[in-house]
Amino acid sequence: MSKLFRAVIMGPPGSGKGTISERIAQSFGLTHLSSGDFLRENIAANTEAGVLAKTYIEKGLLVPDHVMTRLVLPRLGEMTRYSWVLDGFPRTLIQAKALNSSCDLDMVISLNIPLETLKERLSHRWIHPASGRVYNMVFNPPRIQGVDDVTGEPLVQQDDDRPEALVTRLRHYKDVAKPVIDLYKSMGILHTFSDTETDQIWPYISSLISNKIPTVRPDPRCTSP
Ligand code: AMP
Repeated sequence: MSKLFRAVIMGPPGSGKGTISERIAQSFGLTHLSSGDFLRENIAANTEAGVLAKTYIEKGLLVPDHVMTRLVLPRLGEMTRYSWVLDGFPRTLIQAKALNSSCDLDMVISLNIPLETLKERLSHRWIHPASGRVYNMVFNPPRIQGVDDVTGEPLVQQDDDRPEALVTRLRHYKDVAKPVIDLYKSMGILHTFSDTETDQIWPYISSLISNKIPTVRPDPRCTSP
């Protein structure tokens, strides 16, 4: 029987974690799980966790660890028979330790993207504040300029996506992520990729995964492109 495969993608805001995770999921037939998506679902459904999380997300803050672990770990518990790639979790050491005690990871990919590239990408990022839906005016624009596809409400640019705020935000990401990266390095499962373009990084990630896990069991719920 082929082995299940579990990977985590880490990276600062604007690093392309979502895009890389989606490519991995599509190419290898894994399920793409995203903590940001779990949060947005909860915000849309007005759950207790969603209402609480929204107050943090709107301020550009991380949602507290106990909310995140209670949200994400049960979802992973439903995936015991499937291979997955997890994007956006863990972001802190507490989350990483909670994840380690609930499952075995095969690989962690850390995206180490130059600051100038992140600045450029985030300057194109607009969000719909009520749902947390994110648009990129170059790669993933809304159907009507400046307006959310689902509700028709106006999109805004978050203050912390502005170039001035990014340096502080990136420093914060590095401080919080460092112990997580050190932990995964010590476990021997960390792979770091640095480049400005997702398309340049992708072939390396793709061949790394193909070499490591030649026979990942496809997730029957995933459709191939
Ligand atoms: P993302 O879609 O991954 O950029 O997440 C959107 C927002 O949700 C982040 O800016 C955080 O405020 C929050 N968030 C997502 N994942 C986590 C996490 N693992 N820990 C804390 N906050 C998170």
